[in-house]
Amino acid sequence: DIMMKMTSIVMYVAPIGVFCLLSRTFANVGFEAFVPMVKYMLGVLLALAVQCLVVYMIMLWLLARVSPIMFLKKFFPVMAFAFSTATSNATIPLNMETLERKMGVDRRISSFTIPLGATINMDGTSIMQGVAVVFTAQLFGVPLGPVEYATVIATATLASIGTAGVPSVGLITLSMVFNSVGLPLEGIALIMGIDRILDMTRTAVNITGDAVCTTVVAKQAGRINMDVYNDPDAGKDVDVPDAA
Ligand code: ASP
Repeated sequence: DIMMKMTSIVMYVAPIGVFCLLSRTFANVGFEAFVPMVKYMLGVLLALAVQCLVVYMIMLWLLARVSPIMFLKKFFPVMAFAFSTATSNATIPLNMETLERKMGVDRRISSFTIPLGATINMDGTSIMQGVAVVFTAQLFGVPLGPVEYATVIATATLASIGTAGVPSVGLITLSMVFNSVGLPLEGIALIMGIDRILDMTRTAVNITGDAVCTTVVAKQAGRINMDVYNDPDAGKDVDVPDAA
């Protein structure tokens, strides 16, 4: 509770800090930083799309032998809810309900994996952090070699584990990744202004990863009812809470 309170206080005063940092950055780098920022955004969105629509779907197909299309159709409302709240933690009940009622996953599996995943498994967040490092390094002309890339992979994985499932925390833990390779923290101020939409998208990817892993574990442990999974009408009455 204390951490949540501190985070919301920091986020409350963040706009003033961001404004000061941005003014300094634009005074140094100039407005040419806008085009790279758009490229950064597109880079993050593309990487998230590949993770969600290619990597996860291959995992479902190869490791669980279940239909990825059926998964996407049934899981879409949970993704939309995560997108609109940008909060992994808030999606835990809906995620578990959907896995149980629509996909036939045993609650004994999901009640362990979904809260655990919402806390430590944040693929979308580490993807954003990796792209943010490359973007900032290029913008400030900091050269990155193989050792720095390996450091970024390790620290972004750790930072995403330490990220709480609430809005914008990925940006705060990003400072740890920046520090590990000596990048200026002004880079975070630059991307902060456009982070909300990326936060929404990466949260949807974060919680999809949790559900995919849960489905794989359940299938391999024989704890999934395939009749329910393959029934397009199963769990049609699962209620999606109002994000507002
Ligand atoms: N909003 C993200 C989540 O709840 C965390 C982050 O990357 O900021 O999963």
